Amino acid sequence: MAIKQDSVVTLHYTLTDDGGDVIDSSASGDPLSYLHGRGNLIPGLERELQGKSAGDKLTVKVAPADGYGVYDQSLIEQIPRRSLKGIANIKVGMQLRAQTPQGPRTVTVTRIVGDMVTLDANHPLAGKNLNFEVEITGVRDATEEELSHGHVHGPGGHSH
Ligand code: ZN
Repeated sequence: MAIKQDSVVTLHYTLTDDGGDVIDSSASGDPLSYLHGRGNLIPGLERELQGKSAGDKLTVKVAPADGYGVYDQSLIEQIPRRSLKGIANIKVGMQLRAQTPQGPRTVTVTRIVGDMVTLDANHPLAGKNLNFEVEITGVRDATEEELSHGHVHGPGGHSH
């Protein structure tokens, strides 16, 4: 069965950056299951999986624009530490939920100088090429319930 709109796809993947460092991998756990064609994967990977079948292995290089976005300098903001009141022990590398004009976003503390805290609302993988090694382990049709929920149930998926 070839992967098409609304297939349930099960796969193992390893994601590395251009330096060969592993960013994420399913290798040590259960494979990932997702509902194809619903935007559950980044666009550059989902597009390459279209038409593939169980047993296929593929290498996919995804550019930032088809991944987690191009790095956007305008998403970096400096704010006074006192405006983060209620958050103890602000440290570089912390991730916070912040209200922005675009709605709630996860921001990363990237710098603290004196009383000023630099927050970066780019996705941690924004601006990076993503190198996927993928092995497709299963393809099946989705159930009516999965289609109405827009996600996969059962192993590797949701339970609700
Ligand atoms: Zn559900």
